[in-house]
Amino acid sequence: MRFDLITIFPEFFAGPLDHGIVRRAKEAGITEIIVQDLREFTKDRHRTVDDRPFGGGEGMVLKPEPLFEAVEKLLGRGVGDAEKRVPPETGTAIVLMSAAGRLFTQETARGYAKLERLILICGRYEGVDERVAEFLATEEISVGDYVLSGGELPAAIVVDAVTRLLPGALGNEASTENESFSQLKASKSANTAAISQSRQAKLLLDFPHYTRPAEYRGWKVPDVLIGGNHAEVAKWRHQQAAEKTRRNRPDL
Ligand code: SAH
Repeated sequence: MRFDLITIFPEFFAGPLDHGIVRRAKEAGITEIIVQDLREFTKDRHRTVDDRPFGGGEGMVLKPEPLFEAVEKLLGRGVGDAEKRVPPETGTAIVLMSAAGRLFTQETARGYAKLERLILICGRYEGVDERVAEFLATEEISVGDYVLSGGELPAAIVVDAVTRLLPGALGNEASTENESFSQLKASKSANTAAISQSRQAKLLLDFPHYTRPAEYRGWKVPDVLIGGNHAEVAKWRHQQAAEKTRRNRPDL
């Protein structure tokens, strides 16, 4: 899968995308991540990407021209104009990162993981000229109900969440089936069958995990996990996941 990140801060991504699963997926050729400097598509001496808002008010707005031209260069063809729009091929999404977008969820990530290509546009300042959201982007996505100063962190979040869903990106293929926000289908392993059945209808958060030592500062790991009874473990995990979901995320 190919990710294209359009940004005025290309060096931003050197850290976040160079570790762990995201890095290994790149090295294994599962993903290709191209960072596109928006300023390459400016034509003036100052490499201006922003301008004052029509209608007044504070802050600056990212201009449409560099963004349209950056996407067109990446696509290798035009996207059209008001007379005639040319939508991207199926298999490609052009996503504008935006606090005013649709909420990005695990389900969104699963949808993106089926694509061949994701072009992510990172806003800055007060935001982006609305014509980008309306006529260039295929969708407008928010990573949460808070305002960040730029779309780079949100874009890195999307790359991470999508990458780990790609076949071969995680060592253990089963591990994206058994985690928070997953509705499990029939599970291969017996000890998760009970969990998967009751997870059908609603989304559950993950169950609590424990590792050695069995006792730490007097706090003990729950006995059931040490007993070796797989059915009991599955039942306990499901109960705990349900309880934690009720406590932390009653909305789910
Ligand atoms: N004026 C805007 C906020 C602009 S923040 C508003 O009130 O909605 C500048 C840029 O940061 C945005 O263009 C967007 O690309 C990015 N951004 C900020 N918060 C975000 C969020 N929750 N999700 C995705 N992108 C976000």
